[in-house]
Amino acid sequence: MSAGGGEAAAADRGRLVVFGVDGADWQVIEPLVTRGRLPHFKRLIEEGATGTLRSMEPSASPSLWTTIATGVRPERHGIYGFVIEGDGGPADAVHAEEPGAGPPGRGAMVRPVTSGMRRAPAFWNILPRYGRKVGVVGWLVTWPAEPTNGFIVSSYLPYIYNWSTGRPLKGTIVSGIPKQTFPEALIDDLNAEKVKPGDIPPETVRRFYDPERVRGLSADDRDCALGFLWSLACDETYRRIGLKLFDKYPVDLFAIYFGGVDVASHRFWKFAHPGALDYRVGPEEAAVLGRVIDEYYVYVDGLLGEYLERLGPDTTLVVLSDHGFKPVLFPGKPTTSGHHRMEGILALFGRGARRAHTIDGAGLLDVLPTLLYLLDLPIARDLEGKVLQDAIDPGFVRAHPVTFVDAYGPPEHAGEEDQSEVDRNVLERLRSLGYIN
Ligand SMILES: [Zn+2]
Repeated sequence: MSAGGGEAAAADRGRLVVFGVDGADWQVIEPLVTRGRLPHFKRLIEEGATGTLRSMEPSASPSLWTTIATGVRPERHGIYGFVIEGDGGPADAVHAEEPGAGPPGRGAMVRPVTSGMRRAPAFWNILPRYGRKVGVVGWLVTWPAEPTNGFIVSSYLPYIYNWSTGRPLKGTIVSGIPKQTFPEALIDDLNAEKVKPGDIPPETVRRFYDPERVRGLSADDRDCALGFLWSLACDETYRRIGLKLFDKYPVDLFAIYFGGVDVASHRFWKFAHPGALDYRVGPEEAAVLGRVIDEYYVYVDGLLGEYLERLGPDTTLVVLSDHGFKPVLFPGKPTTSGHHRMEGILALFGRGARRAHTIDGAGLLDVLPTLLYLLDLPIARDLEGKVLQDAIDPGFVRAHPVTFVDAYGPPEHAGEEDQSEVDRNVLERLRSLGYIN
């Protein structure tokens, strides 16, 4: 990898920062903005173009983030859920709501979805074909890390959720697993940025809840609270890795994914909204765990601020989620009280973004064409969405006509020929670590 920005981005061509927040929902953000808790989201609303990003079914996040990255539906990109049973293919896909939903089909051959199963090119394949540099941190279904002209830090840990507790261990890097980064040697620079739950300072944990009072709650509540620290540790890991790479290796499109809002929203919805459904949440539970979701958004607002302050005048910041959240009651699953809904978030800010505008009619398929348009790249005619001109400054639209090509070509995988060998090694590794039987 070549360091430095010399050839990374011509000043007149524009750059992008894509900030993905799994499960973020305006219904949570707006009251917090009103209360002055989210100054950076407030800035996006006041100075950028913001609106609802319509999600799709199946609502499993690996499928949705792949749809965002490819601009085509699961029927074409081939990623439906977290894991695949049997030989793969749509009929074998497991549509779990979240990794914590539990072990699917014990006894069947279960394989985590991998980047090699994706059948459509993602933006990290497309940009290099036009000489534009791309860097990706933590995006779902990016392991094994594919070759690109910048860097990819793949999201590995979704594949090793703890099958006995059903506890999701969202993205971080794991020693002993190949191809977690591209270039592969990059991982040596990143080990120091890895954060484990035990590394989180007590004062940080106390932003979300009081650990002393958690000890007095039920086993299920304690499980919610302690398991949540895994996702906080993963987001902290990506936060450190993301800033390090962003500062060190400038690219034309930098994309980063944070999963903790989704985890917090699945687990803590009933404590934040005890009256939403017949949850039977006691006053002590609500008092101790009722602020986790809000405080997680405050935490993410801080991460957003770290990129806002680094944003040059040639850069557009795109903030988005794959779906929103609603209350749900799953009998027999007391640790899940929030569930995906169709209304996600979208915000464009900076170069080319329409100011103080509400975006109408945006869907997941429109994200990729819009990203490529902002980079002055042609839009493939076989993409299924549209450039969101409604979100773009009218003067920019006049100066930048949409151009087209027929297709971007095939995806580019990380050593397709040894994919099954890699999978076999990983399954053995997961077994040796006790994650699967
Ligand atoms: Zn989820």
